[in-house]
Amino acid sequence: AGYRVWETERVRTTCPHCGVGCQLNLVVKDGRIVDAEAAPGPANKSLLCVKGRFASYDFVGSPERLRTPLVKNPETGEFEPATWDEALDLVASRFADLKERYGGEALAAFACARSTNEDIYLLQKMARTAFGTNNVDNCARVCHAPSVSGLAATLGSGAMTNTIEDVTREADVIMLVGSNPEEAHPVFGMQIRAAVENGAKLIVVDPRDIRLTERADVHLKLRPGTNVAFANGMVHILINEGLVDREFIEERTEGFDRLARMVQEYTPERVAEICGIDARDLVSAAKLYGSAERAPIIYCLGVTEHSSGTEGVMSLSNIAMVCGKLGRPGCGVNPVRGQNNVQGACDMGATPGDFPGYQKLTNPEVAEKFERAWSTELSRVPGLMATECFPAMVDGRIKGLFVFGEDPVRTDPDTGHVIKALEALDFLVVDDLFMTETARYADVILPGRSYAEKEGTFTNTERRVQRVRKAVDIGGDTLLDTDIFTEIMNRMGYPQPHLSAAQIMDEIASLTPSYGGISHARLDGTEVAGQGLQWPCPNRDHPGTAILHVGSFSRGIGAYSTAEYREATEQPDGDYPFILMTGRILYQYNACAMTGRAEGINEVAPSSFIEMNERDASALGIADGDRVKVASRRGEVETTARVSDKTSPGETWMPFHFQDGNSNWLTIAALDTIAKTPEYKVCAVRVERAKTS
Ligand code: SF4
Repeated sequence: AGYRVWETERVRTTCPHCGVGCQLNLVVKDGRIVDAEAAPGPANKSLLCVKGRFASYDFVGSPERLRTPLVKNPETGEFEPATWDEALDLVASRFADLKERYGGEALAAFACARSTNEDIYLLQKMARTAFGTNNVDNCARVCHAPSVSGLAATLGSGAMTNTIEDVTREADVIMLVGSNPEEAHPVFGMQIRAAVENGAKLIVVDPRDIRLTERADVHLKLRPGTNVAFANGMVHILINEGLVDREFIEERTEGFDRLARMVQEYTPERVAEICGIDARDLVSAAKLYGSAERAPIIYCLGVTEHSSGTEGVMSLSNIAMVCGKLGRPGCGVNPVRGQNNVQGACDMGATPGDFPGYQKLTNPEVAEKFERAWSTELSRVPGLMATECFPAMVDGRIKGLFVFGEDPVRTDPDTGHVIKALEALDFLVVDDLFMTETARYADVILPGRSYAEKEGTFTNTERRVQRVRKAVDIGGDTLLDTDIFTEIMNRMGYPQPHLSAAQIMDEIASLTPSYGGISHARLDGTEVAGQGLQWPCPNRDHPGTAILHVGSFSRGIGAYSTAEYREATEQPDGDYPFILMTGRILYQYNACAMTGRAEGINEVAPSSFIEMNERDASALGIADGDRVKVASRRGEVETTARVSDKTSPGETWMPFHFQDGNSNWLTIAALDTIAKTPEYKVCAVRVERAKTS
C-alpha cells in the first residue's frame, strides 16, 4: 500500500468478517484507512486470512456507501434524500400507527450479526420497549440456531465449549464434522492444519472433499442429511467396543440406558448404507475418537442447516458425553460460529424467546427484572423467529419490519418467497451501509456506520468479547446505529438518553449475569492486555471462562438425545435428480456486501459456480467451465460448471455468496423442527447445459 509508516496511525480492532475474531490494526493516513495488518490476538496468533488482510477496509470509504437517509416516493417508487428528522419522524410515526392499529405483534426487527454487541442490545431493546414485541431475531436463525438450542438442551449452554487455542494445541485427535475451516474460518483452519502437521490425527466427516481431507486419517464422505445416523452409529460402536467412560456417564449424565437401547439399531452396516460410506471407516473413526485422550468435535453449518439440525447437534453431544470428553482441555463440542458477532447477537437477546444472556422471557422473575430496569411493561408472548416472520408477512400478521444490516433477499432460502413477503409489508425500514437487494424494497433507508466508524465489542466463536475501535469518519450524513435506535425509541414515546458504547456495555453487564464483569474499561486495561474476556464472566474480578462444563454442566446433569435419523425434507427424484448443498468459499463473505468491494478479491472470485461430479457431468454432456442452468421446484439460475470428484455422484455444491446465479433462488425453506433453521444443505435440483454455452 502506498504510504510511509510515519504518516500513519494504527487502530487496534477486530476483523469484521468471520467468527474467529482475529485482531488487526487498521492503518490510517489523512483520515482514510489505507491498509490492515495482523495484530497478536488470542485466537489468531498474529495471523490473518485474505479477507481480514485485504477486504477489511476498502468497503468502509467506498463511494457506494449510503451517506444520507432515503425515503421512497410512493408516487414514483424512487428513493429521495431526506433529512434525519424527516426520515426518523416517518419511521417512528408509521411504526407507532401500525402498533396502534394492530398491536406490537404486527411489528418485527432483524438484528445485524456483523454489528457490535452494543448496537444489537439497543436494537432488541427498541423492539421490546418501543415496538412492544418479541419478534426480534438475528441471522443465527439461518445458521447456528440449532447449536444454541441443541447444546442448551444437552449441556446447558449453546456455545463453543473450549477455545481455538485449546482444541488445536491440546488435541490428539480432531473430529471435524460439516465444517470447512480453511475456507470459512481460515485462521482457525490454519491452526487445525498445523495441529495435524504436528501429529494430531484428523477425522473429517463431510459430503465433499475439502482441502483438509488430504490430511485426514479417515474421511467419512457421507450423504448430505445423514448426520444423525452417523452420530448414532458412532455411539453404537463406542459402546460395543468398550470405549465409553462409565464413570463420567454415571456421575455427570442422565438417560444413558435409553440412548444405549436406541442406538442398538444403528449397526455399522445399517449406518454405512444410510450414509453411503464404508462400515469399516465408521468403525475406524469411532475407535480413533474413542481411544484418544483428548479429542474435540469441531462442527459447523454442515450439521446445523438441516431440517434435523438441532437433532444433529444433540447427537454430537451424545458422542462427547459417552466418552467423557467434555469439561477438559483439548475436548468438547465446538460449533464454529459464522459471522464476526453472531455469537454476540444471540448473547444480546436478539432472539424471540430470550432476553440478553439467554435469560428466558417465560421466567417471570427475569421479565420483571427487565421491566424494572427498562421502566416499562414488556410483552411476555414469545416472538416469531425470523424464518417464521416471512410467512407471517404474507398472511398479514406482520405489517412493519425493521431490518438492521441484513439482506434476506440474498441470504435466505427460496428468494421468490422472501420477495413476496417483503412486498406484502405495509412498511419496511432498512438500516445498512449499502443499497442491498433487500433495501430496494424498503420505504425508508437509514445509513448506519461500519465497524471502523464506531466503538464497541464483538464476541467471537469462543465466547471472547473483544474491542472494536473507531478509526475514521467517512463524511456525509450518517449516524451511529445506537443513536438511530435511541431516536426511534424517543420518537415512539419511550424516552431514552443517548449513551456511549461503553455506557451501553455497562447496562448490558448490569442485566446479563454472564457479561456481569465485562466493561470497555476492563477490556482496554492492562489486566486483560488485549486478550478479551470470555463469558461467563460474572463479576469485575472474574478472569473469564476458557472451558465450559468443568466439574458440572451448565444445566447440572448432561442429557442425551434419543433422536432417530430422519430423511431430509426434499429428496432427489426423476425431475430433480441431484442433491444441492450450499456453502462458503475462502475469498468472499456471505452476500459480498463488504468483501465484494475489495478489488483484488473480486478478480480472484468474481462469480458463482456449481460443483458437480465428473460422472454426472459426462452423462449430461457438460464439461468443466460450461455454462449450465440449475433449476429446483422454486426457481432457476444460470452459472458455471466446475467438474471434479469433490462431490459424490448425484450431489452438487454451490457457494451462496453471489448475486449472479444466487443459489437461494433454488434452496428450500424447509425448517428445522426446533430452531426453525432452513435446510440449505439439501434440496433437489436439475442441471443442464445452458443454451448460451
Ligand atoms: Fe477475519 Fe475470519 Fe479471516 Fe480472521 S479468519 S482474518 S476473523 S475472516
